[in-house]
Amino acid sequence: MTGTVAPPAPGPTTLASDPEAYRAALRAYLGSDASLDRWRNRHHRTTEERITEHAVLMSGLHRGRWNRYGWPADAGGLGGDERHRAILYDELSAAGLPVPEPHLMLETLGPPLVRFAPELAAELLPRYLRGDEWWGQGFSEPEAGSDLAALRCRARRDGEDYVVSGQKLWTSHGATATRLMCLVRTGTAESRHRGLTMLLIDADTPGVSVRPLALASGHNELAEVFFDDARVPARRAVGEEGGGWTVAMYLLQFERAMYAWLSSTTALRRLRELREQVGARSTHDGDAVRFAEVYADIVALRARSAETVRRLASGATVGPEASIDKVLLATAETGLHDLARELLGGDFILSAETHAAQWRADWWYSRASTIMGGSAEVQRTILADHVLGLPKETSA
Ligand SMILES: Cc1cc2nc3c(=O)[nH]c(=O)nc-3n(C[C@H](O)[C@H](O)[C@H](O)COP(=O)(O)OP(=O)(O)OC[C@H]3O[C@@H](n4cnc5c(N)ncnc54)[C@H](O)[C@@H]3O)c2cc1C
Repeated sequence: MTGTVAPPAPGPTTLASDPEAYRAALRAYLGSDASLDRWRNRHHRTTEERITEHAVLMSGLHRGRWNRYGWPADAGGLGGDERHRAILYDELSAAGLPVPEPHLMLETLGPPLVRFAPELAAELLPRYLRGDEWWGQGFSEPEAGSDLAALRCRARRDGEDYVVSGQKLWTSHGATATRLMCLVRTGTAESRHRGLTMLLIDADTPGVSVRPLALASGHNELAEVFFDDARVPARRAVGEEGGGWTVAMYLLQFERAMYAWLSSTTALRRLRELREQVGARSTHDGDAVRFAEVYADIVALRARSAETVRRLASGATVGPEASIDKVLLATAETGLHDLARELLGGDFILSAETHAAQWRADWWYSRASTIMGGSAEVQRTILADHVLGLPKETSA
């Protein structure tokens, strides 16, 4: 027999050590599986429907082993690093597919769990990766958003449990999350960031009640969560008692940096879709310039974010510099959605078509990009103080 012999498909070990081989194999899969069409160009009328549908996509990616790269074997993964996760999001978006929504919070909550509570990660992260469950992040409170160290939700130790009382606010996916990673106060009221502990709390614990909060779009993206003497096993502490601030700072660099990369891949997909939807209607020369400006903002974000992903993959601490990625993300997201609002014109407001409804909901959500994960003003203060080392402002 003559001719070439196709090389064997790379095994898990090869893909874990070679991100570009992983990219090639993933791209080939995404281009060949017609069942993925179910998730292309879909708009879901409710948050609950969308996240449930996305969890099905996630479970398919898990069956194919694709979303297990980038996570350690001890936590249900197949090895590799942050670059594998970045490639997954990149290739899904390039293939016209959504990044499954549970991955947003996985990027925020997964790394600190692996780092500070490896036993919990071994027990619980495989379920998350399978799409069987997703979690929420309970940091903010009514009087503690930008000033997180002022939080008051209290956990007192009682035997083998913590007893938690208080409230969290603005919990993304709070209405459907099965567990909540919460920063709570175990020290004195005055202890600020020194008296905090991170707990992973099951949402169905007696004493926990969740009230969904509808956004302006009408979607229940967020929730407020109340704790009324909820008993949480002490072994659910993520890190040391009193060490919650360290865990939170580690977490925030992933929330700001990996989330920015993931969102940049989605922004590129949405810009392409907008170009197709606007199509021949866009005859104005200025429209091309606007597209180019938004494209440049997304590319600037990706250039910066790719460097951050490489640094995280090498084990470096990104720390306050992740605020640069966060600021660039807010610029790209608001620009993209303002462009859609302008170019879709009357359709943006009035059309009942799926694509218009999706842009409307996304436009509303994009307004939050300068608030969530730390407001734009706070990010700029972090950059001024901790990255640029500018002198403190003095009052006149
Ligand atoms: C869509 C969305 C999703 C969210 N998801 C979550 C989540 O999953 N989990 C969670 O815990 N939280 C979440 N949040 C909450 C978010 O982290 C807070 O809204 C954010 O940190 C700001 O806090 P705040 O809303 O209390 O506003 P405040 O802290 O009261 O700030 C109000 C205004 O004052 C400004 N400001 C405050 N302090 C300063 C300062 N020192 N210098 C300059 N300006 C200042 C702010 O920039 C802002 O403009 C989410 C928020 C949104 C909008």
